[in-house]
Amino acid sequence: MSPSTSPASTTTTAGAVVGAGAVVGAGPGAGAGTLVACDLDRTLIYSANAFWLETADCDGPRIVVSELYRGVPLSFMTREAERMLLELAAVTSFVPVTTRTVAQYQRVQLPGAVPRYAITSNGGVILTDGKPDERWRASVAARLTSEAAPLADVEALLTDPAAAAWILKVNNAEDLFVYAILDRPAMPVEWVTALQDTCSALGWSVSVQGRKLYCVPNPVTKSGALAEVQTRLGADTLIAAGDSLLDRPMLEMATIAFRPAHGELEEAGFFADNLTVTSSRGVLAGEELMRLITAAVEAAVPEPAATRV
Ligand SMILES: [Mg+2]
Repeated sequence: MSPSTSPASTTTTAGAVVGAGAVVGAGPGAGAGTLVACDLDRTLIYSANAFWLETADCDGPRIVVSELYRGVPLSFMTREAERMLLELAAVTSFVPVTTRTVAQYQRVQLPGAVPRYAITSNGGVILTDGKPDERWRASVAARLTSEAAPLADVEALLTDPAAAAWILKVNNAEDLFVYAILDRPAMPVEWVTALQDTCSALGWSVSVQGRKLYCVPNPVTKSGALAEVQTRLGADTLIAAGDSLLDRPMLEMATIAFRPAHGELEEAGFFADNLTVTSSRGVLAGEELMRLITAAVEAAVPEPAATRV
């Protein structure tokens, strides 16, 4: 691991009104040309087993709940990360970008108003003001038919009895892609390598994240949906953050990119000229990412001379 730049500042110059759920969205002169695209799981929000805290409990960060599942807290961020996110969303076009399905995304409680755009289902769905965009879904469906093998062909690879010792459950995500719940220690590395080769020939990609293995058709990408949202917003500066192989094209297309010092991209040793890696891991990396992005937004959008109203 080779951490790069450290955060320049922890203070934001954001002047918009924030707090109590009332957020002023990006407007002219307030960084409207800056799109911040951020992966959710293990980038912005963390389950308890991904916290990676190494301090004594009494010195740990203050934590807020970001997701309930069946009435029980499931995902979290630090209180400071949430505060910074609220300010970022007020002065930029903040776009959550996730492989979660729409239902899984809707459980996540981000601070502030519903984002104008959100990307779910690994780019298979664009939510506009919280509602699925039919025009985008139709364009993805057309590409799926011509550019990737049918979902059933890949699902069959995961439900193969030969893999039953480590594939605990296989899920169909909105007829767009499939993912399996793993007994990861029992999963042979050679099996994943062979699966990647087979999927590649079928026009699909594989990503292993914690206890989940994703098989996603190549036309369903976060980067493709993000390019569409960037065009619609007319944003000239793209700042992106993510931790997994599925985030890599999104980081590569960004003006400025960030990733935490954990996850698939860390394990793959991914670096790029536009990329900064956090110095911390786990839930504190999520907070550091918010700090780094805030500093990048401030650098990209100089404070206007006149006082904002
Ligand atoms: Mg992630």
